Amino acid sequence: MTEKELEELRSRALEELSGARDLKVLEELRVRYLGKRGLLTSILKTLKDLPPELRRTIGRRANEIKAELEGLVRQRREALLRAAEDEAPGVDLTLPGRPYELGRLHPITQVLQEICAIFLRLGFSVARGPEVETDYYNFEALNIPPDHPAREMQDTFYFPEGFLLRTHTSPIQIRTMLSRKPPLRIIAPGKVYRCDSDVRHTPMFHQVEGLLVDREVSFADLKGLLTYFAREIFGADTRVRFRPSYFPFTEPSAEMDIECVICKGGGCRLCGETGWLEILGAGMVHPHVFRAVGYDTEKWRGFAFGLGVERIAMLKFGIDDIRLFYENHLRFLEQF
Ligand SMILES: [Zn+2]
Repeated sequence: MTEKELEELRSRALEELSGARDLKVLEELRVRYLGKRGLLTSILKTLKDLPPELRRTIGRRANEIKAELEGLVRQRREALLRAAEDEAPGVDLTLPGRPYELGRLHPITQVLQEICAIFLRLGFSVARGPEVETDYYNFEALNIPPDHPAREMQDTFYFPEGFLLRTHTSPIQIRTMLSRKPPLRIIAPGKVYRCDSDVRHTPMFHQVEGLLVDREVSFADLKGLLTYFAREIFGADTRVRFRPSYFPFTEPSAEMDIECVICKGGGCRLCGETGWLEILGAGMVHPHVFRAVGYDTEKWRGFAFGLGVERIAMLKFGIDDIRLFYENHLRFLEQF
């Protein structure tokens, strides 16, 4: 390496670096001259092989050139960055980023999943059925013959030719019992339809029904199961009570109340000053229902229960108008 060669290297490098039109080319040139195996770097590495006199002068000059080229690379990089910014007007890099919106489950779906999870832990499995049903599955097999006054309890959407939108998920119980032998333990979640609309009713809502059939089943088992369920979903210190009630497909029948979630039993507007809120209906399966599906009533006993998912969600989240669930206002849905 001579001084002349070194100067030639310098002028070539200066010329090429000054002409670099973008950052990629600039970086390639930097690596070629100043990188670990770069041209100038190699010269500095071989200095030790030169005679002492030459080593000093070439060494000093090579270091000067190195500093000069490094300065030029820095300068060119800044200039190219500035030029890139000028080419993209309106981009303000100091602005905060746009928030990334995460989707989430609808509150009804959340509560439905929570309810199902509790019963799945207890050994129940999920059964499903069609939303368009026949009169037989929705009413007759459930001990509600034509002209039975209980039909008045549910305003039904009818289709021509005897089809209807199911008014409860109970037809799933009938379909399951017809296709499976006891013992069985199922929950039937799903959409149900009734011709009804106000702050507490929507034409479509969700139900979860449960059915357990076995040899030794008592009302005490039913009470124990539902008490456990209420405490899982509303909290371990939730008080419950059972009131006698009437359903055509169970006998005896009961409704379960929980202590009012607002006043804790003191009495308020939500609970109509009673201190209690009804959350579900239940009872021992009526022998007529077992006969309709061909189960031996001497051998098998069972209980069933049914609850409205929207009702549970309203009490759990303190919502006073059921229609909010279906208006899909983001400001409402984002709270869950
Ligand atoms: Zn109350």
